[in-house]
Amino acid sequence: MEDTIFDKILRKEIPAKIAYEDDDVLAFHDIDPQAPVHVLVIPKKKRTGVKTFPRASAEEIGTYMIAVAKVASHLDLDTDGYRVVFNQGRNGQQSVDYVHAHILGGRTLKWPPG
Ligand code: AMP
Repeated sequence: MEDTIFDKILRKEIPAKIAYEDDDVLAFHDIDPQAPVHVLVIPKKKRTGVKTFPRASAEEIGTYMIAVAKVASHLDLDTDGYRVVFNQGRNGQQSVDYVHAHILGGRTLKWPPG
C-alpha cells in the first residue's frame, strides 16, 4: 500500500491539529476546512477507502463508525448536527488513499452536495 500523508500524520512525522485519539482512531482538523468544524477521522488500522469495507469484519468497521460518532460528540456537534462524508475514488474526488471520514459542522450545510 502506498504511504500517504495520513500515514505520516498517524506516525507523527508531520504535524496536524489533533482533535481526538484513542486505540482505534486518530482525528485531526482538515488543513483546508470547508465548514467552521471540519475534522478527519482515520482508523489506525489502515484501509485505503470505503470500497475495501466488504473485506473487513463488522467489528472493525463498527468500531470505526462508532468512533466517528464519538468524535462528533467530542466536538460538541450532537445538538446542532453535522455531516459525515466519505469520498471514494475518482468520481468521489478522493485525494488521499487512506480512508477518512470528514465530519463537517458548525453551520447549516447545503444539500445536495456538488
Ligand atoms: P479527500 O478529498 O476526501 O481525499 O480529502 C482529503 C482531505 O485531506 C482534504 O479535505 C484536504 O484538505 C485534507 N488534507 C490534506 N493534507 C492534509 C494535512 N496535512 N492535514 C490535514 N488535512 C489535510
